[in-house]
Amino acid sequence: MSFKNIVDLHTHTDNSFDGNHSTMFLAETAFMKGIRAVAFTDHLEMDAFYNGNFDKTAIQSFFEVAKARSAFNGKLIICVGAELGQAVYDKAVSEKLLDTMKYDFVIGAIHNLPEIQDFYYMDFSDESIDYMKLLEEYFDWELKLAQWAKFDTLAHLTYPLRYIVGNYGKSVDMSKFSEIIDEILITLIRNEKSLELNTAGLRQPIGVTSPDESILRRYKQLGGKLLTIGSDAHYAEHLGAGIDKGYELALKCGFDKIALYQDRTPTLIPIE
Ligand SMILES: [Zn+2]
Ligand SMILES: [Zn+2]
Repeated sequence: MSFKNIVDLHTHTDNSFDGNHSTMFLAETAFMKGIRAVAFTDHLEMDAFYNGNFDKTAIQSFFEVAKARSAFNGKLIICVGAELGQAVYDKAVSEKLLDTMKYDFVIGAIHNLPEIQDFYYMDFSDESIDYMKLLEEYFDWELKLAQWAKFDTLAHLTYPLRYIVGNYGKSVDMSKFSEIIDEILITLIRNEKSLELNTAGLRQPIGVTSPDESILRRYKQLGGKLLTIGSDAHYAEHLGAGIDKGYELALKCGFDKIALYQDRTPTLIPIE
């Protein structure tokens, strides 16, 4: 299927430490690809906000995206966004940032447990790592993040699986986490926050979206209505990647609209 309303609300510019292309180049590429709306959501790791220089990149990112937004006015909807990592590890700094910066759209994410490196860098071939225990802690923090709720969408709910299952081939019995995942989904719904369908996994070894079909169905079953979608592109060529597959999955699970955020407010766009 091909869709006309391609919305990609999770992308990174070179104002992210792992980004590769400038905001203007990405905006031009998104426009050329016929994307309808894009959010640039550079990383702000809130547990290292000052010592990781995110206070500087936050400002740089904000102004470059705002500049692109006006340059592409009428051609491409650009949302000024940010991906806040670990916001609940330092709520005071996170809340101060959100009071100061007038974002269109804020993603809430957890990439690492407190005082531990990002799951991305962990070596799960090391048998001494109790990854089920780490996952348990991870989902506890995801719940705390959903309860804090000062973001718009909850990013890649099953993020560690990209590495534990996808890259290291470990098997994870997800039924052990169904109760806490229900609690996270119910908390999002109660707080009127979106769940993100992150399509990066479709181009990674894990081969599925985060979350996958079973959790997406459960979200719908529990009354979830607000869904955002994002490629998590770190390169221009990945802008919009997997959004069509994500839309097919969303439709299959009973979602016929996707949320677009401007000025921290969702608008539901038909998936068509
Ligand atoms: Zn992320
Ligand atoms: Zn990201």
